[in-house]
Parts: sequence; C-alpha cells; structure tokens
Amino acid sequence: KLVSKKWKAKPTSIDLGDNVFIKDGEMAIITGPCSIESEEQIRAVVAHCVENNVKMMRGGVFKPRSSPYAFRGLGLEGLKLWYNIAHEAGIKIVTEVMQTSQIEEMYPYVDVYQVGARNSQNFNLLDELGKVDKAVMIKRGISGTIEELLQSAEYVFSGGNEKLILCERGIRTYERASRNTLDLNAIPILKAKSHLPVIVDPSHGIGIRAYVPQMALAGVMSGADGIIYESHEIPEKAYSDGQQTLDFVQSARLISWIRESFAMR
Ligand code: PEP
Ligand code: MN
Repeated sequence: KLVSKKWKAKPTSIDLGDNVFIKDGEMAIITGPCSIESEEQIRAVVAHCVENNVKMMRGGVFKPRSSPYAFRGLGLEGLKLWYNIAHEAGIKIVTEVMQTSQIEEMYPYVDVYQVGARNSQNFNLLDELGKVDKAVMIKRGISGTIEELLQSAEYVFSGGNEKLILCERGIRTYERASRNTLDLNAIPILKAKSHLPVIVDPSHGIGIRAYVPQMALAGVMSGADGIIYESHEIPEKAYSDGQQTLDFVQSARLISWIRESFAMR
C-alpha cells in the first residue's frame, strides 16, 4: 500500500503554510467547537486560540447529526464568515466535508478537509478528495478497523493527494459507560504501519468533558502527532456535543499540559 511504511519510510509532513505543520516530531493542537454557531462564537474561539498560540481551529458547518431535527450547521455562509475571521488572525481551518458536491464550494475557505467517522468509507467522497490539492484528515469509522482506516487513506493517496492525516476518534464497542472507546492502541500501530501523521480526538473518543484532558494526554504519550478536541466559551450552551466540550479555562490548562507532556515524551 502507498500509505504504508514499507512503501515510504520517511514520515509525511503536512505543510499548511505560514509555518503551520502537522508532522512527526511536532505536536499539532486543533481546538474549537463541534459546530460553528455565530460570528460572536467564532470570534471568542479565535481569540482563545490566539491567546494560547494555537494555529488550527476545528468546527463543523455541515454537521452529520443522528437526528434530522438537530442543528445541522450554518453551511457555506458560516464557513465564509469563519474563514475571514480566522485567517485574519493567522488561524487555519479544519472542517468536515460531507459530500462530493461540497468539495469545490468549500475549497477557498478550507485548510484541512475533515472526513467524518460516518463518511470514513464513503468511497466516492474519498475518490474526489484524492484529486484535490489540499490536506485531508480521515477519521476512523464508528465501527472501523485500523486496516479499514488505512484502506480509506489509500483511496485518497492513490488518487494523487498525499496530504493526508489519520485520526483516531474512538470506536463503538459493547461498553456504554462512555460514548465511544478511544482506541489508544491504534496510535502506535498506525504510526508503525504508515508514514502518515496520526492525531487523536479525545472528545468524541470518550464523550465526557471531565475525562477529555486525561485521554488527550494519554494520546500524547501514545505517540500521536496531534490532538483535536472540542472547546466553546459556554459548553452548556453549545448547539452540539456540549457534554464533551471544554470551556476556555479547561482548554487553556489542557494546552499547557499537552505541551509539557510532549516535551517529556
Ligand atoms: C466532529 O468532529 O464533530 C464529528 C462529527 O466527528 P466524528 O465524525 O468523529 O463523529
Ligand atoms: Mn462533535
């Protein structure tokens, strides 16, 4: 496989421009709300990122919701608003693309296309992202194996797009005490099998705000190249995933813990 270490031993480095990288040997920190909600909310999160020297912000404008009645995102208009505010502040955008028709319209406003867990095996979407000259982060499927994640990455890579990032975000197991089971085993295994950078999403991985920092730090120590987690000024008021979202005080504390842990790794 092209994404395997056997084919390419040197770790792949993702250059997002302006000296922002997702790569082996660095610790990428990506934070932001589950959903982009309003201009006010965007400004608050951007300010939080700037204060903490975080260069990449996450957020969904097209949201895959289990219920059709739940908030489904601000769409392209929300993305444009976010792009203007974030780029003014030098912050890169990581956001989910849900279908092929969105790739082109999103293109000018995206730094990393996120493929969500539910679309991890949407092979048409992966094919199309293989033709794009922009980074793609593929999340592991809800019940996806490590091998299936690598096969999904292979679709994009073999299509010609080598700017790929793998993301462990927890899998569905028989355990119901947490939202998902964050598979920390996947990190050293993916790092051994593939030259692609691997990042960890502890927010969706455990789904419980109070335990997100522990799992983030476990992710750092397991060898991840980055952490992506959800934050919001007032998590209780978030339109989605508030139960697993950190407030800015918790988030700032976690950022310094991540950096300290990484320095000790
Ligand atoms: C998200 O990042 O908010 C999200 C929907 O993630 P996942 O696809 O991992 O469920
Ligand atoms: Mn979410």
